[in-house]
Order: sequence, then structure tokens, then C-alpha cells
Amino acid sequence: MVDNVQHIILVKSVKGGVGKSTVSTQLALSLWESGLRVGILDTDICGPSIPYLLNVENNSVYQSESGKWVPIFKGDDKRLAIMSIGFLLNSRDDPIIWRGPKKTSMIRQFINDIEWGDLDYLIVDTPPGTSDEHITIMECMNEITGKCDGAVIVTTPQEVSLEDVRKEITFCKKTKIQILGIIENMNGFTCPNCSECTPIFSSDGGKALASYANIPIWGTLPIDPRVGTLSRNTQSVLSGLSNSTFADVFNDIVKNKIIKS
Ligand code: ADP
Repeated sequence: MVDNVQHIILVKSVKGGVGKSTVSTQLALSLWESGLRVGILDTDICGPSIPYLLNVENNSVYQSESGKWVPIFKGDDKRLAIMSIGFLLNSRDDPIIWRGPKKTSMIRQFINDIEWGDLDYLIVDTPPGTSDEHITIMECMNEITGKCDGAVIVTTPQEVSLEDVRKEITFCKKTKIQILGIIENMNGFTCPNCSECTPIFSSDGGKALASYANIPIWGTLPIDPRVGTLSRNTQSVLSGLSNSTFADVFNDIVKNKIIKS
């Protein structure tokens, strides 16, 4: 139930491994640390990684008397709610082997049948791709009128990823979901010893595409191995990596792109 959710933001990518779930968790944690009530919904049926990233893997969820799923809450004041298909699996190694209709009905149930309570922002980590379950997510967002602010697309800077982002842009346009911005991830690695930046996966391709497609670039993130450990301690880059490009980018996103919009 998203009746008392003020804003929904989708986080999308066409490929896996580009940092979509990392961005989703960091968006949720940054908003949470800014004092807001936040939910994160992991709809990545085939690779749910939010429970791992937020270190809540061994939790199980239950259905309330009304038949709605109750999310996991973090923090004493329960301002961070987490729900993932991963909570319904017996083991992290269990694959989901479902055909389209079962996947789409699960997605519908996940979007409509969770007792989120009062939330300022719900961040939805969506599966990579543009097929059955992705169309269902977009349909659900259009049905819940007035709640979905739009989608943020995460990409890496190299040409092969950018080609997919072009498809994602077309997909969002066809499904009538606004694209809020592009986040370019893994844009170079700065050596901690000599401070030289090496563009391991090329650089600035996301920026170029954003400008070509007339979509705002929300930020360019470097490769920073420290980022993977933070969310496991329920810590955002704002507090955990306070003097870093990551923190600057997320600070700007939260203050100037999300809350102001
Ligand atoms: P996706 O959701 O797109 O599959 P993930 O967010 O799970 O990608 O990221 C894949 C891996 O890359 C994870 O181990 C994550 O910690 C790591 N990662 C993501 N972004 C960065 C980054 N900017 N610097 C270093 N590691 C990163």
C-alpha cells in the first residue's frame, strides 16, 4: 500500500553490475540520514541484493492479518523500511525460476501489498532490462497516479553500456515514466597513493549521452572500493565517506535534485 507514500523514485539500468543497487541503497540511506522516512523496495527478482547490501539477509518478513507484507524496519524510530524478494527465499543460493506471468503477479503484489506506512520517499530498485516485469513496474507506477516522481538511470561510462541506456531512455518514454537524471558510475579510479585518475571503464560517456538526450546528469561517481562496505553498517556515504566525491555527489542529489524537486 503506497497510500501514505509521498514520492516514489525508480532506479534503473539495462545491464547488471553497473552499481544500480549500490546507488539505490545509497539514495535510501542518504535520505534517511537527512531525517526523512524512507523505504527501499528490491524488485530485482532474479538477483535481489538489497538484503545483502544492507546486512539484513537473515531477517524474515511476515504477512499481517490483512494479508499485507510487513517490511523490515531499521533504526529505533523505524524510519527506514526494507522489502525484498530475497526475504522470501530459503537461501541466498536459491534461484528464482519463474515464467513471465508469475513474475509480473509477484511484482504487482510487491508494489501494492506492502504495509509501508508513512514514507517521504520510496526508492524502488528495479531489475535490469526492459521486458515483462519491467513493463509491469512501469504500469503499476502509472496506475498509482501522482506518486512516482520518475526514474534515475545508472550506467557505467563505456560505449557498450551507453547503447543500452539509449534503449532504457526509449523504454521510459514509451511507458510514460519521466527520466529524472542519469548517474554515471565507475568513472575512473583515483590512486590513493599518487592521486592519478585512471579511466578504467572509459570516462564521461554518461555525461555526453545525458547532454545528447537532454537529460540532466545527476552525478559522476568514481570507482571507490570503500563504498561496498558502508551500507552493510547502514551508513551512507554522507557520513561514512564524508570527504569524498561520493559524498559530494549524494549530498547534491539529496539536497538539490530530490528534496527540492
Ligand atoms: P547492480 O545492482 O547494477 O548489479 P551493484 O550495485 O550490486 O550493481 O554493484 C556491483 C558491485 O560493484 C558491488 O560489489 C558493488 O559494491 C560494486 N560497486 C558499485 N559501484 C561501485 C563504485 N563506484 N566503486 C567501487 N565498487 C562499486
